[in-house]
Amino acid sequence: MKFIRLSNATAIRIIPLLMAGLLAFGIFSADANGAESPGVGKLRIICFGAHPDDCELQAGGVAAMWAAKGHKVKFVAATNGDIGHWREAGGPLALRRKAEVEAAAKILGITTEVLDIHDGELLPTLENRRIITRLIREWGADIVMSHRPNDYHPDHRYTGVLVQDAADMGTVPFICPEVPPLKDNPVFLYYPDSFQKPNPFQPDVAISIDSVIEKKLDALGVIVSQFYEGGANGSAGLIPADPAKQKDRHQQVRDNFAKRGQSLATRFRDTLGDWYGKDRAAKIKYAEAFEICEYGRRPDKAELARLFPFFEK
Ligand SMILES: [Zn+2]
Repeated sequence: MKFIRLSNATAIRIIPLLMAGLLAFGIFSADANGAESPGVGKLRIICFGAHPDDCELQAGGVAAMWAAKGHKVKFVAATNGDIGHWREAGGPLALRRKAEVEAAAKILGITTEVLDIHDGELLPTLENRRIITRLIREWGADIVMSHRPNDYHPDHRYTGVLVQDAADMGTVPFICPEVPPLKDNPVFLYYPDSFQKPNPFQPDVAISIDSVIEKKLDALGVIVSQFYEGGANGSAGLIPADPAKQKDRHQQVRDNFAKRGQSLATRFRDTLGDWYGKDRAAKIKYAEAFEICEYGRRPDKAELARLFPFFEK
């Protein structure tokens, strides 16, 4: 094979032209710094929950669906869950719960992190606002999810407040300057709850999770301390000694979560109809739903359909 030798001066002129041509044909994709960007076109979603189980319960289905399409999802528990059991507490429980959500994340195909803040003691402090702001920026989030700030549990409430407070900080360069600001403010979304005062949850988007329900139930099934054993309000009576009865108890937990998914589909049937059409919506068995927070970017229906790319037949 014969090689064509270029003089240095010719190479200097030709190589940038060649690179520009390759870029124009989409052979390489590069970000503003010239680095290759394998995640181009992929969404980045970060979900906050007060405890190591909240995100899995509220968004485990949609997270698995995003992950299956190559989008990047991270769950963050704002507290370590170290009082969330009737029999055990402290460091060993925090480690156990971290291991549980890591196992759940593996099943869902996502990333997870548990902040080392005591369960039941989360406060909307400046320090915590900075932690949440940093996490949103480091993840490069397009979507941020959290509890609403009117919730029965102070940790849920303050997680909601902290995420709301961070909603104005993602793009501000001189708060947390060690992490580059986001170019665009993410869309902030709330999980559903049943509280009516001062205002009830109003769904803006509802998703069929029928295709991933088994995966979601598997993920909730490995959070044993909270569901199988009943968490802070459980008791020894929930845990049978007989292995056959233990199997029944696991099935009971699974059935209860399947029923929860069904009741959400019933509750948000009209919103499912807005997105899937009435006929398809009528057949959906299991759902998750979210409300747009007023403080982040306000997406229109077309943008929501881009962020939740699940509605085509
Ligand atoms: Zn919780």
